[in-house]
Amino acid sequence: MIKNSLFKQVEMQIKRTAKYTTVSKNIVDMLKYPNNEITVNFPVTLENGEQQMFTGYRVQHNNILGPYKGGLRYSPHVNLDECKALATWMTFKCALLNIPLGGGKGGLKFNKNDYSKNDLKLISEKYSEALFPFIGPFRDIPAPDMNTNSEIMDWMTSINLRMSNNNPLNIATFTGKSINNGGSLGRAEATGFGVSEMYKNYCKVYDIKPENTSYILQGFGNVGSNAALFLNKQNAQLLAVADHTGFYKHSKSQFISEIDDLVEYNKKNKSIKGFPLLKQIDDKEFWSIKCTFVIPAALECQITLDNVGLLDCKCIIEGANGPVTSDAESPLLDRYIDVIPDILANSGGVLVSYYEWMQNTKGEQWSREKVLDAASNKLEKIFKMVHSYVRSSDGFHSYRDGAYSIAYKNIEKGLKKK
Ligand code: NAD
Repeated sequence: MIKNSLFKQVEMQIKRTAKYTTVSKNIVDMLKYPNNEITVNFPVTLENGEQQMFTGYRVQHNNILGPYKGGLRYSPHVNLDECKALATWMTFKCALLNIPLGGGKGGLKFNKNDYSKNDLKLISEKYSEALFPFIGPFRDIPAPDMNTNSEIMDWMTSINLRMSNNNPLNIATFTGKSINNGGSLGRAEATGFGVSEMYKNYCKVYDIKPENTSYILQGFGNVGSNAALFLNKQNAQLLAVADHTGFYKHSKSQFISEIDDLVEYNKKNKSIKGFPLLKQIDDKEFWSIKCTFVIPAALECQITLDNVGLLDCKCIIEGANGPVTSDAESPLLDRYIDVIPDILANSGGVLVSYYEWMQNTKGEQWSREKVLDAASNKLEKIFKMVHSYVRSSDGFHSYRDGAYSIAYKNIEKGLKKK
């Protein structure tokens, strides 16, 4: 059941976490349903003159706290159920951070690797055109996600600007743009930075020195590679790494210290496969490695009932959205393995997107230092709030229960103000 429906997972999380909240049942019920589920079908004439049809989605889950906010994915697996799940998580993420944004998510169902760069631009522009009636700087603000990046956001922004008769405020319709096109310094690395801040804060509250810790990392894209770069500065030891081509550890040493080289290699080759210092291992060996932290930063449903028993760690930091399935969470908690939930662990991205939106609407440009300092302070504050809930006097709760409880309360407060 869970394998087929990501949204079922969300429903199970809402059911579980609702037990620990004092907010009314009406609010919980409302959060089970997205406000709008939009499907767009549009033709694109490709470079070679051939016309192809494309299907894209945008789910607008909830806007009690502010405009819908969330990424756009490009993947052959994109579907409405997945977008509903991801949009719901965005509502909880923004509510947990207590920023004036709601939850949305979208995606285009196609394999980006099958198209030339010129075709990718044409497809992205047409997707932006199709979404135009539904999005805007005060209505719904998309951003990059899996297989999308600042260049794609730039293409989509220029169409949105053109269609709005060049309303300057429409520069804020999309976040995650390139710096020259209204993007924020620090946005590209923000999600990975946030993951590394979770690591740091967890170590702090349990009095562990990051240099005495180790981790395994699944996913070496935007989130995973940036997390590894920041964790390298904390001297955390990377024991093994995985991407869509397989699982790897160092061929000569105990841990992988050549992070900068690996990032460069990955940029050039679009995968870590073939990096001279890595040797391939199988998935069982990867998930069984004894370490302090496991960081799944690739995609959803990676830690399941099938492999959860293999894990030998203290804490899982959910860099990806929904990497631990709902049924795999109980066995982890039974073994006192903490899970820092996605809505907290990868919230650095939407937080800095919010800073980008503020800069755009106020005509400001913040330094990278200001952006990352603000994000660091905010994430530390939220982490501590969630942590104090987990270790509260009325017993032990999971970090997910804590994070959702705070989010529910903030949504309730937002509703009262309306
Ligand atoms: P990305 O496309 O940049 O990278 C994805 C990585 O996952 C790549 O290294 C890829 O090789 C790997 N991967 C893909 N399929 C895999 C598989 N079957 N097994 C192992 N590895 C696989 O994507 P990203 O932006 O880094 O996003 C990763 C996750 O983080 C997604 O769940 C996304 O929703 C979430 N997220 C991203 C952001 C952001 O700002 N980019 C923000 C919040 C959450």
